[in-house]
Amino acid sequence: MHEGHWAVVGMDSARRRLVLVPEIETDETPVDGWALVVEDRAMHALLRPSALLRRLATGTVWAEGAVWLPEDGSVLWSDIPNDRLLRWHPEQGANVHLEPAEFQNGHTLDLDGSVLACSHGRRRIERLLPDGSAEAIVDRWQGRRFNSPNDIVVASDGAIWFTDPPYGIVSDYEGHKAESEIGDNLVFRFDRATGELDAVTDWVEAPNGLAFSPDESILYVSDTSAAGLGTDAAGNRHIVAFDVVDGRRLANARVFYALDATDGVPDGFRVDALGNVWTSAWDGIHVVTADGRRLGRIPVPERTSNCVFGGRDRDRLFITASTSLYEIDVAVSGAVRPGRR
Ligand code: MG
Repeated sequence: MHEGHWAVVGMDSARRRLVLVPEIETDETPVDGWALVVEDRAMHALLRPSALLRRLATGTVWAEGAVWLPEDGSVLWSDIPNDRLLRWHPEQGANVHLEPAEFQNGHTLDLDGSVLACSHGRRRIERLLPDGSAEAIVDRWQGRRFNSPNDIVVASDGAIWFTDPPYGIVSDYEGHKAESEIGDNLVFRFDRATGELDAVTDWVEAPNGLAFSPDESILYVSDTSAAGLGTDAAGNRHIVAFDVVDGRRLANARVFYALDATDGVPDGFRVDALGNVWTSAWDGIHVVTADGRRLGRIPVPERTSNCVFGGRDRDRLFITASTSLYEIDVAVSGAVRPGRR
């Protein structure tokens, strides 16, 4: 395993702290001793028999927010504490794509293929532009700034759904320390056609990852409040499912999948075309059916934060986990928005 060189040592004047920035290294080695954990035979149909977990790049402090870019076959992902955005390409390897990045966290593709980001630092949803700048899309609700948008998804009608926990404002580690102006941790739906911004639920204590079922009839939202919000270690470590009503409201909240304390929290996750949820946990990726039954796990040797389906057939799972980006070939495709191929 590459340990990563700690390359730059200096004082970040804006954040007034000593900065140790690891170099990003392209790695591409299979993970030694890796073995899938199968708990239900149905898991075998979701992974290729010869599949290996490969580490593609290493050198981040807290990797998050990966997005697959189909146009050039690359992956962008965040190194939040180091305030930078990274890019991995199969021929070009891994490099720093944008720095500083105002503490971007989750990313998704918009309907037109452009990249939308959750910015902890700017406390807004923004669109990344080719010149490295970003264009604001929405940054406040009822006149109050968001906490620190965390993860994002675009529905087939173009509405942007995102979570707004306070992880980017509780300290300077993943953003800029500040008070919450909203005073709550909400999930929002922003309708760009009408400009309406609705808080769709306050039911989730610390809303984090989110994704729709393939037909968009269900919205899943993870609750990572057990990971603490700076002081409070009590809380939840589960994914909540909601029925989506008329494409714009949520109803019938219920706990869909709960982790054991030893498994950490479910942060980001994605849904495959069959409706299975591939969720991060501290020990890797858990694969859970639409009725909440876990089929097995993809162990990852680092605390795991998120994943995204990519590749030409959307059957490669890219996984962000602490210092590294991993990849495994799977036998099912990631879900696509209804009405799209
Ligand atoms: Mg997250």
